Amino acid sequence: LPHQFQSAKVILQRIQDAGFEAYFVGGCVRDTLLGVPLHDVDIATSAYPQEVKQLFKKTIDTGIEHGTVTVMDHGRAYEITTFRTESAYQDFRRPDKVEFVRSLAEDLKRRDLTINALAMDVNGQVIDLFAGLADLKNRVIRAVGDPHERFHEDALRMMRTVRFASKLDFKVEDSTLAAIAENAELLQKIAVERIYVEWTKLLLGKNPQRGLAAFFKTGLYQYCPLFFDKGKVLKQLLQFPAFTLQTEEGAWTLFCFLSGLSLRTATKLLKAWKSSNEMLKTVQKTLRILQIEQEKKLTSWDEYQAGLDCLLYANEAATVMGKGKNAAAIAQHYERLPIKTRHELAINGGDLLHFLAIKPSPYIGQLLDQLERAVVSGQLPNERQVLLQAAVTAQQNHLE
Ligand code: ATP
Ligand code: MG
Repeated sequence: LPHQFQSAKVILQRIQDAGFEAYFVGGCVRDTLLGVPLHDVDIATSAYPQEVKQLFKKTIDTGIEHGTVTVMDHGRAYEITTFRTESAYQDFRRPDKVEFVRSLAEDLKRRDLTINALAMDVNGQVIDLFAGLADLKNRVIRAVGDPHERFHEDALRMMRTVRFASKLDFKVEDSTLAAIAENAELLQKIAVERIYVEWTKLLLGKNPQRGLAAFFKTGLYQYCPLFFDKGKVLKQLLQFPAFTLQTEEGAWTLFCFLSGLSLRTATKLLKAWKSSNEMLKTVQKTLRILQIEQEKKLTSWDEYQAGLDCLLYANEAATVMGKGKNAAAIAQHYERLPIKTRHELAINGGDLLHFLAIKPSPYIGQLLDQLERAVVSGQLPNERQVLLQAAVTAQQNHLE
């Protein structure tokens, strides 16, 4: 049994001792067999949720209506889900009904891809009903059963298919790919938030171009928010030498930049994707950096306004386009800025009011902006006396 599963062994054993079946299933089996780190260990069982709860002292009803109970053991959490089938798919979305069953085979049958439909028992024996092991070995993404039907049942599976092609650098099997091309428009039925998750995982995969190629070729992209005209951008991405992306921020910025979007239209795109405000702000700042760099060298002020994170995201995007710099050098350069935030300025608005003996007004803000700029660009040292003196001079000029 793989070592990642050792600590969960007692959980499976306890369920089995009570007369039920229990297996490791899904992504954790796939990743273990591939020898990549797992993030969670999922367990499937023939025991019903209430039966699972009776077996363990500490449980949490994580998603009990879908059959999932979390068991806490020695500070670790295990998600235990009752075998289930999904029936009555309407609207090409998730099933409206899940039915608990006692058969592992039924449970594996409803899973999306053969490599995700593997189970492993307590002895490390793999249960492989859909030749998932062969697909894993041959690096193939293939739908379980009839791909046409499976994508009709749940259109998100098409996004998952291209996402896994990227994530694992696997090839999408021909009939699975053809079924995506035929059913692509069903993706419109899926909530944007769920498409978003798969899209970002695609971009951050091991070989994004593999996923993007399938995403493009099948026309699936056309049914993502405001992507109907993004074929050209995808083609461009496919023509770059092989690349990887580390952050969602870098990925979105790259995509917006290649699309030639202004800050305004980039905002529209990200809003259509229901991006967080945080992400939106960061991408705007990062995109701005790439736009400036197209015209000229960045000034200290540009770097200051962007902040180090955004400078590095911009570099991530630039690297894909063959214009990357050394990240350490960017950080070093940034560290040389006299101040990093307005808080570090040796004076504040209160000081100005006091020293100039004037009433609060927008003028104070403007003055502070001027001083901030002067310090950042190295025209003035960040020293209290010097800045106050400069404020006096500026005020005199202002009054004249
Ligand atoms: P990751 O490493 O990204 O978490 P994963 O395979 O664990 O990959 P999850 O989304 O966590 O993916 O889903 C867990 C398992 O549930 C999958 O391996 C698959 O067997 C099944 N599954 C998830 N989503 C679907 C779906 N839309 N249709 C069918 N089966 C699904
Ligand atoms: Mg998972």
